[in-house]
Amino acid sequence: MKRSAPRRPRAKGRVRRTGGRGSTRPGAGGRGGGRRGGGAARGGGPAPEDLVDDVLEEAEQIGLLLDDAEEDEEDPEPHEEDEYFLRAPDQGPPRPRMRPARSITAAPKREAGGAGAPAPDPAIGRHFFPRNFTVRYPVAVRASGVFIHDSAGKSYLDGSGGAVVSSIGHGVKEIAEVMTRQAKRLAFAHSSQFATREAIGLADRIAALCPGDMKDSGRVYLVSGGSEAVETAVKIARQYQIDAGRPGRTKVIARWQSYHGSTLGTLALTGNVARRAFYQPMFADMPHIPPCYCYRCPYDLRFPSCKTACVEDLEAAILQNGPETVAAFIAEPIVGATLGAVPAVDGYWRRAREICTKHGVLLIADEVMTGIGRTGKNFGVDHHRVVPDLIVTGKGLSAGYAPLGAVVARGEVAETLRAGHGYFEHGFTYSANPLSAAIGSAVLDYIERHRLIARAARTGRILEKKLAGLARRHRIVGDVRGAGMLWGLEIVRDRKSREPFDAAKKASRRLYDSCLDEGLIIYPGSGTRQGKDGDHFLIAPPFTISASEIDELVARLDRGLGRVARDLR
Ligand code: PMP
Repeated sequence: MKRSAPRRPRAKGRVRRTGGRGSTRPGAGGRGGGRRGGGAARGGGPAPEDLVDDVLEEAEQIGLLLDDAEEDEEDPEPHEEDEYFLRAPDQGPPRPRMRPARSITAAPKREAGGAGAPAPDPAIGRHFFPRNFTVRYPVAVRASGVFIHDSAGKSYLDGSGGAVVSSIGHGVKEIAEVMTRQAKRLAFAHSSQFATREAIGLADRIAALCPGDMKDSGRVYLVSGGSEAVETAVKIARQYQIDAGRPGRTKVIARWQSYHGSTLGTLALTGNVARRAFYQPMFADMPHIPPCYCYRCPYDLRFPSCKTACVEDLEAAILQNGPETVAAFIAEPIVGATLGAVPAVDGYWRRAREICTKHGVLLIADEVMTGIGRTGKNFGVDHHRVVPDLIVTGKGLSAGYAPLGAVVARGEVAETLRAGHGYFEHGFTYSANPLSAAIGSAVLDYIERHRLIARAARTGRILEKKLAGLARRHRIVGDVRGAGMLWGLEIVRDRKSREPFDAAKKASRRLYDSCLDEGLIIYPGSGTRQGKDGDHFLIAPPFTISASEIDELVARLDRGLGRVARDLR
């Protein structure tokens, strides 16, 4: 395969890549750390089957047992549906293939009676089930503006809006007042028995933010969060295909290195290797294609001479699976948690739209993180002037004030369900909950009244400059990318070769702890390089952050990075 000279991808609109001046990078050799065997590997990166092996090997080292390793060793032929890189028949040699990941189902090897297991943290009591038993969480007691305060009196600047949730800041009194009023008037009415003004009103408000014909004809399904919303979108896509007379369409194509949620249905789409590992045997196998990730291009190509091979693989995947089996394609406009705010290159989304339309596949934009102004526009797809068939949103929709998510279906999609079965075979107890809906509308009012989306675009430019400056001072920052108030910084051992730190060093976790000490919350992630190693973190403060608070954020991050860089040396 021909490789073009190293070059940075061209930024799309306001979706930018800055930082990481070391733009030279080696060819295949520079990315091959940890690469083993797997003669099929082309394009320079470790083959995905090596990646799975490495994750499993690591699991073995930390004491997790593999239940079916031997069986897999005897299976030299990978299954068709597990191809990682896909090529149309006339596009040259096949790409590396992914062997089905083996399941991790046994407990870590520890002595009977739990000896060697982490001691429980007395601060969380005897009954609260924490996310991680080994972490000592500060106990948050109140929050206001961009600060969260804990029970020990320490305050933290919320540099990531939690998990990119808080957009209007904490402790906004108007929202609390709406909450109280609504709770007194109508907290609950089941959506199978009543419609409510609150849900109808919020649906109108969300549709008004949507692109193209969705604004006029879109229908909005309200749920309690991002995972529920993705799950709902996938089921709408499936029922749409049934009601359109194409019942064979059951597959949803997703991308590696993505995040779509924690339920078994959404995890089957999620391309985060580590998050999938335990549960893989429990969910349906969905096809995945490589991400659009120029800093570590899965094809070792350069934009634009690559001709956006990553989106062309969408068509190859549809053809390989058979268009008559594919219901939808789902992607994040900016890959948030798993890659660290990686935007798609110019033309990616337009081409994805064309491919989906051509093959009767619905295009789902997962805007749980990027929606409602986070990138400086209403939705991430607005940077690409594309209208998807379904938009999924959450997080910033209620800005943390209520559990809330939504799916917007294009008029034609909803109309097909209405004209078909006449109902959507789906529903949660808290679907279209009036209390959450009233809070969502209050948040959207607040955003509109204070013109916070325009502010996110403006403030984002300031934040970008400051982060790029910080990146120049810290050699462990390899890349800064993102848009609006969603920025990702990738941490590397060597900026020039882009070689990450050894995964065992847990660089992003250490940076999180170091920043926490400084009183700054960031959102860390690892497995940036094909799920195997690599580290990144998100900076995504509330849109309301002031100039002096940005300076404070950057000063705390500066100190946090400095300490970790010294430790990692
Ligand atoms: N999709 C994306 C793009 C997300 O970022 C997230 C949350 N990180 C989800 C789905 C799942 O949302 P939730 O955690 O609210 O279920």
